[in-house]
Amino acid sequence: MIKRLMIANRGEIAVRIARTCKELGIETVAVYSTADRDALHVKLADQAVCIGPAKSALSYLSVGALITTAVRTGCDAVHPGVGFLSENADFAREVKKAGLVWIGPDPDVIDLLGDKVVARDTAVKYGLPITPGSPGPISTKEAAIEVAKKCGYPVIIKAASGGGGKGMRIVWKDEDLEENLKIASREAEANFADGTVFIEKYLQNPRHVELQVIADGKGGVAIMGERDCSVQRNHQKLIEESPSPGVTPEMRARMASGAKNLFGSLKYCGAGTIEFLVAGSDFFFMEVNARIQVEHPVSEFVTGTDLIREQILVCSGEPMSIDPDSVGLRGWSIEARINALSPGKVTRLEVPGGPGVRFDSFLYAGATVSPHYDSMVGKLIVWDSDRPKALARLLRALDELVVEGVKVNVASQRKIIAHEAFRSGDFGTGLYARLEKELQL
Ligand code: ADP
Repeated sequence: MIKRLMIANRGEIAVRIARTCKELGIETVAVYSTADRDALHVKLADQAVCIGPAKSALSYLSVGALITTAVRTGCDAVHPGVGFLSENADFAREVKKAGLVWIGPDPDVIDLLGDKVVARDTAVKYGLPITPGSPGPISTKEAAIEVAKKCGYPVIIKAASGGGGKGMRIVWKDEDLEENLKIASREAEANFADGTVFIEKYLQNPRHVELQVIADGKGGVAIMGERDCSVQRNHQKLIEESPSPGVTPEMRARMASGAKNLFGSLKYCGAGTIEFLVAGSDFFFMEVNARIQVEHPVSEFVTGTDLIREQILVCSGEPMSIDPDSVGLRGWSIEARINALSPGKVTRLEVPGGPGVRFDSFLYAGATVSPHYDSMVGKLIVWDSDRPKALARLLRALDELVVEGVKVNVASQRKIIAHEAFRSGDFGTGLYARLEKELQL
């Protein structure tokens, strides 16, 4: 078993990982940039090492500094968290080369799933439906027009190495293809150092549904229910829930069987998510995220499992503590992401409590929200026995949350959750855009 683990991340996910490690009796080494000297993840870890300046490229993305730190502090494992280097196969390889346990799937598996074009081929190979689209990367206007003709407009140009909703362009007619190809490719190159783009049919107002997976690297795959992440702003998730109000038991079973096949065949190890777009009773594979995800707590609530613990167990060669064939799902869980609308110093914080309420965050009174990093500062997650009760609980908990000194999006989250369109459960990824004006979000 692992004795000391380096958390190659910051913010709420670093805090989250430190907590589980403490419970497992694993010592933690935090890394931080000069901007994060007083951050909560630094305080919660057993040791902390400054790895560079505020700029992520020189600190949290510095493979050299991270590997040196892990080795020097005598760690035997590295947890990459989410974002930053969490899906970087080269970093995973360096971790392994240094003789350390990588809390994630094999680097070759990351390579296979990290490129969306390759991942689409892989999904087809294992019998999963994909959205109609280009069979491979697209670089010329002529090829793009041909694909668009086949799928019908609108189409979406996407970055093969994309993530976080970046590098996507929706196109409605032939004349706009060429320019948008160029823009998407440039954006992809700037953000992911890979200008490769491809084209898919753009589904209008689908649901975003994803399955949480824990796999043991030997073919054992536990499906930990699904999450609905259809409330998105500019393709970025804002509210997530489990189960999905739009998935029938029959669809759930079909998705799970495809996912089991894919993860099992790849001998996938660790936590992973398979994402689908759902239109009516049809679903289409979108991508696999080969890491833990921000929205994992809703799955923890409905399955009664600590997913970070399971992830650490399987990646260190221990058996998972779940029986893959009898994962029980209980009640309803909803998460509201809390985003900072400006950087600054938190002057006051009041955290909601009571039954079925969880607040995962790096905030405390006196904490700094740095302009250098992601604007998400926390997640408010609730559980109750059914969706109406969970909704009431989330509204109550949002009302209790007080953050002063830094503006946060609590008011707009509250408006969405209280709105009939969300309460009805009958919505797709177009919900936010539809409510934006009406609710002045
Ligand atoms: P990222 O890796 O940047 O998160 P994804 O491929 O996961 O990108 O897509 C993010 C979101 O973009 C989806 O949840 C969905 O809202 C939208 N999207 C992506 N592809 C399509 C598509 N073919 N049709 C409609 N919406 C799409």
